[in-house]
Parts: sequence; structure tokens; C-alpha cells
Amino acid sequence: MTDKNTTDSNKGDQAPVEEILTEVTRVPLWDPENDDVLVCRQVRQETHDVKTFVFSAREPRAFRFYPGQFMTFELPVDGMITRCYTISASAARPYRLEITVKRVPGGPGSNWLHDNMLPGKEINVSGPGGEFTADATGEEKLLFISAGSGITPMMSMTRTACDLSEPTDLHFVHAARTPSDLIFRDELALLAAQNPTLKVALTCDSASASHQWTGYTGRLSLPMLSLMSPDFKERKVFCCGPARFMEGVRHMLEEAGFDMGKYYEESFDFGAETAGTFEEHASVAPEISEQTFRVSFSKTGHVVECSPGMTILSAAKEAGLMPMSSCQRGICGTCKSKLVSGEVDMNHGGGIRQREIDQGKILICCSTPLSDVEVEM
Ligand SMILES: Cc1cc2nc3c(=O)[nH]c(=O)nc-3n(C[C@H](O)[C@H](O)[C@H](O)COP(=O)(O)OP(=O)(O)OC[C@H]3O[C@@H](n4cnc5c(N)ncnc54)[C@H](O)[C@@H]3O)c2cc1C
Repeated sequence: MTDKNTTDSNKGDQAPVEEILTEVTRVPLWDPENDDVLVCRQVRQETHDVKTFVFSAREPRAFRFYPGQFMTFELPVDGMITRCYTISASAARPYRLEITVKRVPGGPGSNWLHDNMLPGKEINVSGPGGEFTADATGEEKLLFISAGSGITPMMSMTRTACDLSEPTDLHFVHAARTPSDLIFRDELALLAAQNPTLKVALTCDSASASHQWTGYTGRLSLPMLSLMSPDFKERKVFCCGPARFMEGVRHMLEEAGFDMGKYYEESFDFGAETAGTFEEHASVAPEISEQTFRVSFSKTGHVVECSPGMTILSAAKEAGLMPMSSCQRGICGTCKSKLVSGEVDMNHGGGIRQREIDQGKILICCSTPLSDVEVEM
């Protein structure tokens, strides 16, 4: 995820996309407040361990999202688990949602999707959410750098820009382990052939026997990036991939004297330490009360003590409760709850909308009480 302040201004530039999308929409909009069921319409095998799942609503609905945003899926594994997946589809094709999922060895969510999600099957979702989105309709030159399944937000942004025929000057750099791990390889070649302002450069750590490869080989490095995108210092950079890959990209850019104020990243791993939003948030001293407050859960009747600085989610867990939660950083929106009474300090990362806050909702994973509080749960 990117820094909230900088992406807010980013999002502020998005009006043209929104206007165009509103114009083309002829069916009711998907209402994230009320609509929550997607029906799988198609499954595509992208690579040996990556599938794209195509969904639409039960009744025709138009989805409005910023390219780069994600949906949160409720998957029936061990009761229920939630997982976030970036919408890989174009925001300019509003009647379907696509996600592209890598099968993670031993991972319950991705394996469930790969093994069970078939056309006709329904699934509960919430969203869209997230603030990782580039203004691909603007004048600014862009550089997307991704690795592995981190390609999905870049693909949505690129597809959207191409669909809207925006003359975005975009360099698309993607790294994979081998040619057989390259996701969207053919489509990217086609998009680049059809859009003169889009330049695609792919690199593979090593060749593979099954797929011919004459492109860049080896880990992404500064000399390689300088060949792929000679004017990279003039571009806004969006990066997504495994935590270590993004760390390497950050170091590489810093070493090159890149203005990191123009660097944005999205982590798929809530457990990893990442820069961007999280460091920015950490640098802002939260308003921490010295007092212990009481947290009451109105539905279950539980009452727990919340020590100074402790989030409501942590207090609930310490008391043996298991409220639904996922990212624990105010990003995914899984733990959204109604604050019945009291005051909290909420330090979220984009997982809740202003209108929801105005309606009295909070994310308990990033809210610390400033008084005794009652939460609808
Ligand atoms: C905002 C957001 C957007 C996301 N978008 C996508 C997407 O478009 N496509 C996608 O495939 N995944 C995406 N993810 C990751 C996804 O939510 C799950 O974490 C992933 O599918 C693994 O879930 P699991 O239950 O199978 O395994 P888990 O038990 O959750 O994870 C198992 C282990 O694999 C690591 N891991 C998680 N995701 C990956 C991955 N993609 N590649 C390699 N290792 C991984 C985790 O760090 C963990 O150590 C996104 C995550 C976030 C937070």
C-alpha cells in the first residue's frame, strides 16, 4: 500500500476515469454497502500455478473500482477465512470482476480457490478497497515494476489505460522465476504492439526447458532497469511483488538517486515489514491515552479491559474472543464494526470509507479507545 496522503492526491486526479465509467454504465452499480455475492463465470489457467477467476454479480451490476484496488473474499476453509485479491481486470469493463491467483504451496486460501472455484459457484466478498492506484490518465510518465503475482494491480492499471485509449507513457517491467512463470505474457505483447506509448520489458531469473526465452535473463538490477527504462528517474514508480523483491527495488532506486517521493508500493503479505504506508503511519505519533478503558461487545455481551495504546482487536483476542480480522493494519476492512458509543483513535490505512466513518463504523484492528466504548459485535 502507498502512503495515504500521497495516494489521496493521486486519487484526486482520477475524476476523468470515474466520469467515463459513469457514462458507460447502463445497469445498476454494484453497491459495496449492500451487494456481497459474486458468481464465478469462468476460470482460466494462466500458468502452471496461476488461475484467473472471472466473476459477475447474480443480477447484472456494474462494478466501479480504481484499477489496483482489491476485493476481500470469504473462503469456506476451516469455518471461514478471508483473503484479499487484487482485481486484475480493466476498470473500463465494468460488468465483470477478475482476480488472478497464484497457488501458494500449503496456503489454505489460494488452494481452496484453485481446487473449488468453478463456474456457477457463489462467493461472499466485500470491497473494493485499497489505495494503490496510478493515475494512468494523467500527463505523468509511469513505471510499473512487479514480480510474480504482484503483476495483478499493474495489469488492471495497464488494461484500463489501454481500454480508455489514454496516451499514457508507461514502462511495464515484470520479473518472473522462469518463462513458464510469466503471467499475461501474450496479452502484454499484444497491448504493447497496439499501444505505442506502452513499453513492456520482462526478465526471468533463469530459462526453462518448456518455454523459449530470448529476453532479459537474471535478477532485476540497476544496469538492467536503465536499459528497460532509460528515463526511469523521470517517472512515477509503482511496485508490487514479494517483500524481498520490493526491498531490492527500493534499495536499487535509492542508490540511483531516485526521488522516493515518487515511489509507491503494495504488499500482498500482511505479515511482511514494508515501507510506504506503514512507515509513514509509524512516523505519526498516535494519540495514545494513558488510561485503561472498558470495551463492551453489544451482541455477545463480553466486556474486556483495553490497556493504554492497545487496539480493540488485540484486547478482544487477549480476552479469548475471535473477531473476524485479517490484515491488522486497517487496510482490508475485514474487522469493520459499528461503534455504538464512546470515542476511539483510528489510524487506518484505507480499509474504511469516510462515509462509513460518518456512519459510526470503525476498524477495530487499528482503533484504540479514548474512552469506555461499546462495539456492535
Ligand atoms: C491487498 C492484497 C492483494 C492481494 N492480491 C493478490 C493477487 O492479486 N493474487 C494473488 O495470488 N495473491 C494476492 N494476495 C495474497 C492473497 O491474499 C493470499 O495471501 C495468498 O493467496 C495466500 O493465501 P493462502 O491462504 O493460500 O496462504 P497463506 O497461508 O495466507 O500464505 C502462505 C504463505 O505464503 C506467502 N504468500 C502469500 N501470498 C503469496 C503470493 N502471492 N506468492 C508467494 N507467496 C505468498 C505468505 O507470506 C505466507 O507465508 C493479495 C494480498 C493482499 C493483502
